[in-house]
Amino acid sequence: MNDVARNLVAVKQRISEAAERSGRTADSVSLVAVSKTWPVDHVQLAVDAGQNIFGENKLQEGQDKIPAMDQSLEWHYIGGLQRNKVRKVLDLFHWVHSIDSLKLAKYTDGVAADLGVKPKVLLQVNIGAELSKGGFTLDGLGEQFSEMVALENIELRGLMCIPPAVAEPDQARKFFKAMVTLRDELIDKHRVELPELSMGMSGDFEVAIEEGATMVRVGSSIFGGRNYQK
Ligand SMILES: *Cc1c(COP(=O)(O)O)cnc(C)c1O
Repeated sequence: MNDVARNLVAVKQRISEAAERSGRTADSVSLVAVSKTWPVDHVQLAVDAGQNIFGENKLQEGQDKIPAMDQSLEWHYIGGLQRNKVRKVLDLFHWVHSIDSLKLAKYTDGVAADLGVKPKVLLQVNIGAELSKGGFTLDGLGEQFSEMVALENIELRGLMCIPPAVAEPDQARKFFKAMVTLRDELIDKHRVELPELSMGMSGDFEVAIEEGATMVRVGSSIFGGRNYQK
C-alpha cells in the first residue's frame, strides 16, 4: 500500500471513531480530500484507494486537474472566491464552500442561471470574528440570510468555517459549537433545511465531528505536507 492509501485508511478510521463519539455513524460525515498543491498522479493514488470527493482552493489548480481526472469525481471549491472567477468555478466544481457575502451569493446565482447549473453552496462564516479572515459576521448572516434563501439557482446546503488558529485542537471546540448553534437558529427562524456543516481540517477534524461536522476538509493528513515553493 502507498502512503496516500495508508493515510486514507487511518483518516477514515479516525472519522468513524469521532462520529461514534458524537452518536453518529461514519457515513454521516463526508470526507473532502484537499488536493491543493498536489499533481494529478499523486491525487490519483487517493482515487485508486476509493476516494471520490476532492477539494481545491485555487481555480487554476482545478483547471489543471479536474478535466484530466475521472469525470465521476466530485469537486469542492473551498478557497476565497472573486467575482471574476465565479463562471469558471461553476463550470468545473460541484460545490462551493466559500460564499462570503450577499453580493457574491447574488452574483453566483446569476451566473448559475446563465450556465444552467445549480451548484450546491455553503455560506462561509467568520466564526472567530477575525479581521484577517473573510466570511459573514454572525449579525450579517442573520440579517441577510432570507435574501440568500430566496435565490433559486443555487442550492443552499449549509455553513462552513475556518476557525482561528489554535495551539490545541480542543481550543477550536467552542467555535464548532458556535457554528452548530448558529445553524440551529437559522433553521428555527427561517424554516429551511441546512444539513451541512463544513468544518474541521487535519489538525482538528475529530473535534469538529464530535460537535456535529458533516463535512471535513482534510489535506495534509492524507497527501502529506505541502510544499508551496514547487
Ligand atoms: C488547505 C485547506 C484545508 C486542508 O488543510 P489541512 O490542514 O492540510 O488538512 C481545509 N480547508 C481549507 C479552506 C483549506 O484551504
